[in-house]
Amino acid sequence: MPDSNAAIPDSLAIVRVAVPTPLRRSFDYLLPAALALGHPGIQPGIRVLVPFGNRELTAVVLQLDSRSALQTDKLKAVISILDSEPMIPAHLLSLWVWAAKYYQHPVGDALHTLMPASLRGTASAKIKIRAIDSQQSRTRHTYPAEQQQLLNSAQQAACEQITGALGRYQGFLLDGVTGSGKTEVYLQAIARARAIGKQALVLVPEISLTPQTLARFQQRFEEPIAVLHSGLTARQRLNAWLAASSAQAGIIIGTRSAVFTPMLAPGLIIVDEEHDGSFKQQDGFRYSARDLAVMRASAEQIPIVLGSATPSLESLHNASSGRYSRLQLPERAGVANKPAFVLVDTHTQNMQQGFSALLLDHIQRHIRDGNQVLVFINRRGFAPLQQCGDCGWTAECTFCDARLTIHKNPPHLCCHHCERRHPIFRHCPDCGGKSMQAVGVGTERSEAFLKQCFPATDVIRIDRDVTRKKDELERLLAKVQHGGPCILVGTQMLAKGHHFPDVTLVAVLEADSGLFSADFRGQEFMAQLLTQVAGRAGRADKPGEVLIQTRHATHQSLQLLINRGYHALADQLMLERQSTCMPPFTYLACLRAEAINSQAPMEFLMKARALIEQHCASQLPHQAIMINGPLPAPMEKRANRFRQQLLVRAHQRHDLQQLLGTLCLQLEGLSSQRLVRWSVDVDPQDMM
Ligand code: ADP
Ligand code: ZN
Ligand code: ZN
Repeated sequence: MPDSNAAIPDSLAIVRVAVPTPLRRSFDYLLPAALALGHPGIQPGIRVLVPFGNRELTAVVLQLDSRSALQTDKLKAVISILDSEPMIPAHLLSLWVWAAKYYQHPVGDALHTLMPASLRGTASAKIKIRAIDSQQSRTRHTYPAEQQQLLNSAQQAACEQITGALGRYQGFLLDGVTGSGKTEVYLQAIARARAIGKQALVLVPEISLTPQTLARFQQRFEEPIAVLHSGLTARQRLNAWLAASSAQAGIIIGTRSAVFTPMLAPGLIIVDEEHDGSFKQQDGFRYSARDLAVMRASAEQIPIVLGSATPSLESLHNASSGRYSRLQLPERAGVANKPAFVLVDTHTQNMQQGFSALLLDHIQRHIRDGNQVLVFINRRGFAPLQQCGDCGWTAECTFCDARLTIHKNPPHLCCHHCERRHPIFRHCPDCGGKSMQAVGVGTERSEAFLKQCFPATDVIRIDRDVTRKKDELERLLAKVQHGGPCILVGTQMLAKGHHFPDVTLVAVLEADSGLFSADFRGQEFMAQLLTQVAGRAGRADKPGEVLIQTRHATHQSLQLLINRGYHALADQLMLERQSTCMPPFTYLACLRAEAINSQAPMEFLMKARALIEQHCASQLPHQAIMINGPLPAPMEKRANRFRQQLLVRAHQRHDLQQLLGTLCLQLEGLSSQRLVRWSVDVDPQDMM
């Protein structure tokens, strides 16, 4: 029997490393004395080259040890040491390792996916930091320069509290209505952090959707700003990363993955639009950048501000339990007033192509007064459905449980879930009938209809189809910014943080889809979206109006939202979550499995369920864990795969963590795991 914990001679040391593999574990290697002598400073965060199978891989040192759980003669040796200083500072490395564990993701893969691509290879890290390429980070279009504002008293109080916490951890929820001047608070708090030489990290949902926000930061600060988003080249990304880690850049603005950017002198973290779903990665390493940002701030002993006009129920819960302090901006800043809301019952209206007569009247009036109108539709394409007028047959995707959307330019049908395309049907494949109809309204159809109704007015469509062309979104947004009457038609892209001073009317074509969603967060998402879209109206000195069309005008949630606002509805949803034991009152994980074979996912999840029950019986108090499923996913078939899910809830986060840690290792060992694609999503955001 070999001694499995053998001490090794002093001349040898063990390094425990993260290797980019799908295995949920770290690996031990010998550090040959010759190498160690050449690099006396070897420490966690340094990259090393190691043999792995028949390959050589770049790994990150997690730990140094003098012992290994394996026999030392079984261990392979490190080939070379790639860095002289840690690429990832120690405290950030622990956050990464913690995150991989918390989200049940293989640590090596997690580290690998988050490092700039240039560091995943063997390139020396002694790369010269180039001045951040200002061309790359500048937005292409100019916006009217905005002066620093004299803060109003609510803003002043918020800013004082935030800056008063510089130098220690404190979580803040900046809960301010749309247009209340949250960004102005960020800017002035950051200026205070900069004045004492500290760096600020600002996380935003999607930079490309809101070039104006970036422009505001760039106008305000006369210093390099490192910008990190998915559109960068490997070189640009590395430059921004190094500029942040050397403190050459005092301000770092980035999307989700920027939460892992090292800072030499961290001072403040801001998460803008904290409710936004894009902070949660939906595949691979399924982390929440918002939640990790809070962990990070606490580890680095700095304040963090989560800002939103429509805070997530999670953050509201953290605020009311005292975990965050709540800062409120109840009024719009400057001269802007809150817009007036009108709910339009489409049953009582004469409707044309989705537009009520009342809405068309309003559009006409606002245009005539020289203002801009924003029409929100949550579907792109011409129409969401092609149907036979004779027998009712509808065109569906053969690979998904979904209908095909009609697009007109060029004419085709398209599945928005798997991107599969199909020619438009001329005849009904079922009854041979010739009266094929386009049912429902998408952005393309509304655009065409509005052009027909208002031939003298610019109609600008903004959705993913139009903005596929590089820089097109920025060009269109700049056009709107420069003013003049126009009608904007678009999807949620228009809801995100834009400041359109000339928009006085916002119309929501159909508010109903979120009311009856299969997702337990459906109503929360609907309320956030409607409030955010509505918030684009009347942001400057002109009063705004919001018209919301619905077939369910008496729906209680909609009534509550319109009459008493987002927080009143949030309070009610919170009570429902509490009585149904859903987050934020419990901790949730979703175990998903999918396969071409329709039975395999269910069988796999049945095994998982049995393992969970075993674990609970032996390790946890009665009813510590609630299990639902396996159940078909709300969209059971997608991209030709059958999908099932198992929901696991716990009253204690720790119980869930312990359970999932054991379960994942057990599942990795099952032979049937090869028959399915499976994943664990901790704190899932999207249940579809
Ligand atoms: P939010 O981020 O909450 O949506 P912004 O910071 O974008 O709000 O502010 C909305 C508008 O109000 C901007 O045009 C901004 O310049 C202006 N603003 C912000 N604070 C003030 C203030 N204290 N006085 C006057 N105008 C302000
Ligand atoms: Zn038919
Ligand atoms: Zn499909």
